[in-house]
Amino acid sequence: MGSLTERYKDNVLFTTSDSIINWSRKSSLWPETFGIACCAIEMIAAGCARYDLDRFGVVFRSSPRQSDVMIIAGTVTKKMAPIIRRLYDQMPEPRYVIAMGTCAISGGVYNTYSVVQGSDLFVPVDVHVAGCPPRPDALLHAMVLLQEQITNNRQPKQDQEQTTPVSIYNTKE
Ligand code: SF4
Repeated sequence: MGSLTERYKDNVLFTTSDSIINWSRKSSLWPETFGIACCAIEMIAAGCARYDLDRFGVVFRSSPRQSDVMIIAGTVTKKMAPIIRRLYDQMPEPRYVIAMGTCAISGGVYNTYSVVQGSDLFVPVDVHVAGCPPRPDALLHAMVLLQEQITNNRQPKQDQEQTTPVSIYNTKE
């Protein structure tokens, strides 16, 4: 009778607890259910039967307490930014943010007094999805990229240095 390793080498797996945790985490990404502007229509389409985000384990939740992904889908006004930041703060860690569309990434065509010129200014963004609007399959790609980041044990931006400039909350600028 050989050693334990030889006896069970065909049916025992050795791995790390981090790998198991990351595998389960990336297999059940739960975004918050909210949209801000036209990009949200494409986000909704991504969750419906034709694109079927559910098959990646991505299931929309109706409470930030149950969510670990925030998809900022639309134009962010300076009045809306503090609300989004509050939702982000209510999410359990680790939490991830996807900025969907040029408005969420940079303000897009709305270089105006009332629009925040990029979600990075008030939440840490992990994945940017370009387009106006991005197609649903672009959002699927963003989810797969996020899953790859988690598999590779990359920490979310939340753990990196993040500043939250209060100036964007000043709607009287
Ligand atoms: Fe609308 Fe285009 Fe802005 Fe998306 S990026 S919210 S589609 S204007």
